[in-house]
Amino acid sequence: MTHIAVLGSTNMDLVAYVAKAPQRGETVTGREFRTIPGGKGANQAVAAAHAGADVSLIGAVGADAFGTQLRSTLEHSGVDTGHLRTIEGPSGTAHIVVDDEGGNAIVVIPGANGTVTALAPGDEGLIAAADALLLQLEIPLDAVIAGAEAARRHGVRTILTPSPAQALPPQLLTSVDLLVPNEHEAAALTGVTDPREAAAALLDQVQEVVVTLGAAGCLYAARGAAPLAVPAPRVTAVDSTGAGDTFVGTLAVALGEGREMPEALAWASAAAALSVQRPGASSSMPYRSEIDAEAG
Ligand code: ATP
Repeated sequence: MTHIAVLGSTNMDLVAYVAKAPQRGETVTGREFRTIPGGKGANQAVAAAHAGADVSLIGAVGADAFGTQLRSTLEHSGVDTGHLRTIEGPSGTAHIVVDDEGGNAIVVIPGANGTVTALAPGDEGLIAAADALLLQLEIPLDAVIAGAEAARRHGVRTILTPSPAQALPPQLLTSVDLLVPNEHEAAALTGVTDPREAAAALLDQVQEVVVTLGAAGCLYAARGAAPLAVPAPRVTAVDSTGAGDTFVGTLAVALGEGREMPEALAWASAAAALSVQRPGASSSMPYRSEIDAEAG
């Protein structure tokens, strides 16, 4: 079985659905409230577990009701939470207001995620035993760098989703094997809006890049090779939340199984296309048999 380690965030999304978002000083009555487990680390872990890997999430939740709920949701999805610490204080939360036009305003409070500043005893052993380590940027950068360097020491493939977009220290990029930005993150990292040019610019810093392009699919670039464009299956999208995390989680599983990059990208694209046809983030992530059927 493929082993995937994820070092990253776990959040509870607190979503208020309103006709129109309130202005400063205003109170409005909303239509609906939902709590949705999220965080890019947790989402990528669930995607990889659904896709058939043995997955462990390294991170932290708070000693509150959300922490208990987040942990049990992950375990329910088959994610090992033995390296997910419970710390005093609140879990990470995202406070989201969604209006009737589909626009949103979001406040993220890192909570327990902000305490993940280094690897804990045992984390490096877990990373060393994995086929791939998945990283994002929703925990402190020091921990992301420590994770990438641990993976490098043990020859474990490191895949970084540079979200939320921010300047990346060279010290981090030298330990990353594959960078997977969406087109906005690729532009933010390079100052270049054309995804092909942005991918080419990123190859100065990393060996391999996949720029995801929403319904237009993705673009793979590697040093010394011609870029490869992989189209997304044509589907009717109802909710693209978590598409990127589904894509990365399943891509890691396919690569961990030793599949070649073009086949792995097609499999990840099939999984992400399935996820956008269903509402929700982690709840929309497809299982292995469904991905196989979609990928054909
Ligand atoms: P999100 O933030 O919504 O999780 P993202 O911005 O990180 O997503 P995208 O580039 O939007 O990432 O999507 C990731 C992948 O998901 C795409 O490369 C594509 O394979 C698939 N995808 C996204 N939207 C669609 C769509 N409408 N139809 C088919 N596939 C899609």
